Amino acid sequence: MTIRKKSLPFLLLACVTFSSSAPVTPEDDTTRFAEDYLKKFYSLKTDAQPHFRGKKIEAVSETLKEMQSFFGLKVTGKLNDETIEMMKKPRCGVPDMGDYVLTEGHPKWPTNNLTYRIINYTPDMRPADVDEAIKQAFEVWSNVSPMTFRRIEDGEADIMLSFQYRAHGDNSPFDGPNGILAHAFQPGLRIGGDVHFDEEETWAKYNTGYSLFIVAAHELGHSLGLSHSSDPGALMYPTYAYTDPKKFHLPQDDINGIQSIYGQALKPVQPTGPSTPVTCDPNLSFDAVATLRGEMMFFKGRYFWRKHSQIPEIQMNFITLFWPTLPSGIQAAYENVEKDQVVFFKENKYWVLNGFDVVRGYPKRIYQLGFPKTVKRINAAFSDKNTGKTYFFVANKYWRYDENRQSMDEGYPRKIISDFGKTGKVDAAVQHDGYIYLFQGPKQFQFDPKTKKVVSVLRSNSWFNC
Ligand SMILES: [Zn+2]
Ligand SMILES: [Zn+2]
Repeated sequence: MTIRKKSLPFLLLACVTFSSSAPVTPEDDTTRFAEDYLKKFYSLKTDAQPHFRGKKIEAVSETLKEMQSFFGLKVTGKLNDETIEMMKKPRCGVPDMGDYVLTEGHPKWPTNNLTYRIINYTPDMRPADVDEAIKQAFEVWSNVSPMTFRRIEDGEADIMLSFQYRAHGDNSPFDGPNGILAHAFQPGLRIGGDVHFDEEETWAKYNTGYSLFIVAAHELGHSLGLSHSSDPGALMYPTYAYTDPKKFHLPQDDINGIQSIYGQALKPVQPTGPSTPVTCDPNLSFDAVATLRGEMMFFKGRYFWRKHSQIPEIQMNFITLFWPTLPSGIQAAYENVEKDQVVFFKENKYWVLNGFDVVRGYPKRIYQLGFPKTVKRINAAFSDKNTGKTYFFVANKYWRYDENRQSMDEGYPRKIISDFGKTGKVDAAVQHDGYIYLFQGPKQFQFDPKTKKVVSVLRSNSWFNC
């Protein structure tokens, strides 16, 4: 739960007081924190003599630009809120730039058949669960490459995994709870390939702490020779993001990475993985769009984008970062402004969120809203805050629901084409500034409910200032 709580302040901060750059003074704690981050992960070298201040500021600004560019943030060379927020995310201890990454070519193991050994356990989890998490983490890589991994109980294994506390003899001390979660060494003899987990983290099977499976799978990527990826959806992205281990699919970016080192999997059909959507892709489409306390939320797969009217930057996040229990691939969503609730739909289930918390007792079945059993899923939904009527789009029809009476209105479903212009089936819908926006693949129709006409056809991501 720590993870979710930590992300909330930004969300609230963004709603209330957004300032584009934090005031920076040399003695500022934040500045020191940021410099420390850049030294650790971007090999920032600041001059030891304090009277070369100008030179130091320049070095910091240049390194900051490298970091912002890596994370896909706006490259300003200044320490703004967005950058600080990224720096505060729990992450891997392996640098994003620097000696590790600059090794000529990819360091790789001379053999495809490796051994591993679990040296010790964390008191946070049952040993059997640790064993299982580690085994599954190895399978992530053996499934998509010719590598095999065999566990040994004693002696020297190629990859030794252990839980370590603070300074532990490899010049990379751990930092207590959060911050750096783990690190690993690139292929090689002795410490090469080894993985260390920070014992002061709360380790867990699922999301009651940091998922050992997710962190181990990431670190093993380093053990095999991969460096960090700047694809925010990749397992090898430096910051931690929770995915339900049961639903984990190795992203395509990581598959490409490991296969570029060791070649394809020994399978007749090569495995494929999910690709990360690109914010400004002209063909971008959405699964669902909704408002939430003045922000707009655009959902796609495991991701959502937030757009606040006062903030020019658009941010893509994992759905699980804010709502760990929600599934990915939300199919419809709407805000009930009156009740300060957001309702999410996937297949025949729906979840109600009060602000950011899932209301107890959900998910429920959509039939409780009054849909016939023939309806298997909702494609899109929006709620008219003036009338308290909610519109549900299912294939080429729509239903109207009365939020006050909590029942479907008489005379529905009706054909979408009869009342919303020639739009047909829609993927997502939202009400904004008096218009209804109906999304269909990479297009959206701006519908004026007063004249009952589509007034313009736009790209779906026209909201993102691309
Ligand atoms: Zn890493
Ligand atoms: Zn270590």
